[in-house]
Amino acid sequence: MGDIRYSVIIPVFNEQEVIGESYRRLKETMDRCGEPYELIFVNDGSRDQTSDMLIKICKADKSAKFLSFSRNFGHQTAITAGMDYSCGDAVIVIDADLQDPPEVMLEMMEKWKLGFQVVYGKRSKRKGETAFKKVTARLFYRFLRAMTDVDIPVDTGDFRLIDRRVCQALQSLPEHNRYVRGLVSWVGFKQTAVEYVREERFAGETKYPLKKMIRFAADALTAFSYKPLKLSIWLGAGLSGLSFLFLLIILIRRLVGLGAASWGWATLGVGSLFFNGVVLIMLGVIGEYIGRIYDEARARPLYIIADKTGFEQDAR
Ligand code: UDP
Ligand code: MG
Repeated sequence: MGDIRYSVIIPVFNEQEVIGESYRRLKETMDRCGEPYELIFVNDGSRDQTSDMLIKICKADKSAKFLSFSRNFGHQTAITAGMDYSCGDAVIVIDADLQDPPEVMLEMMEKWKLGFQVVYGKRSKRKGETAFKKVTARLFYRFLRAMTDVDIPVDTGDFRLIDRRVCQALQSLPEHNRYVRGLVSWVGFKQTAVEYVREERFAGETKYPLKKMIRFAADALTAFSYKPLKLSIWLGAGLSGLSFLFLLIILIRRLVGLGAASWGWATLGVGSLFFNGVVLIMLGVIGEYIGRIYDEARARPLYIIADKTGFEQDAR
């Protein structure tokens, strides 16, 4: 495809502290591979100096390209846009904060040359992240695996290499609220892993606060599993069974002459709060799915490009 062999996609959101170093390390690594490449920086609505810094970099270096969203559309959308505008035979997605060591890209390329179409980075260790993040991430990946039928490998992020054919397959999935690593598993192809140690962030802070993490988890779950919806069937069946048991107890007490059970208003109050709570939670679960159906029905574009530098052609 064209003369570019590798497209490296780097989503960036307020990364002024790291972007210079990040560019330097990426360039150094890609120069070592000795084949033509492009670095596509996707600015996800940064509000700091990131954008100006990147434009300067791209004006000086023909292999660096810059794509800028009109606002913050999210990490997963930034990756998607990068893929849309990429033209390499292989596409690599990597974080801007140097947590994914650029040198691992060379290993990924070797595997690709052996005939694998997806090479994902598997974190053997995570450095410099809070215990909370490590524990929740670990639990989440295992929970997701148990909840879905798609074989989504645990402890992998978006750091991966995909073949052009895989990229095209991903582009044929127009869904909103994208969980890219799940979609990559869903499309299949020959996949393999390279293990790496996830480094500490080079500078700056995580751009994934708890709120974004929760949304991310909800996207992953709803996009790949119906099980939460089925939960109400099981809960409903369980609770009906329980109420039947109560009825029996009351009847038996009456029959053996102990008199009907008479619990006070507190018992009633607690019971009613509990069951109403369950019902509302299940309505919320249904709401999550309906909201996502609504997103699809509106069919708004996934992102809006406000500015781009270094591209000859438009998205494909
Ligand atoms: N990012 C983005 N948009 C966002 C949040 C993050 O493009 O809304 C980028 C960010 O600049 C980085 C990558 O996604 O290159 C991963 O984010 P971060 O390192 O903050 O996440 P963490 O590694 O802490 O999970
Ligand atoms: Mg990071």
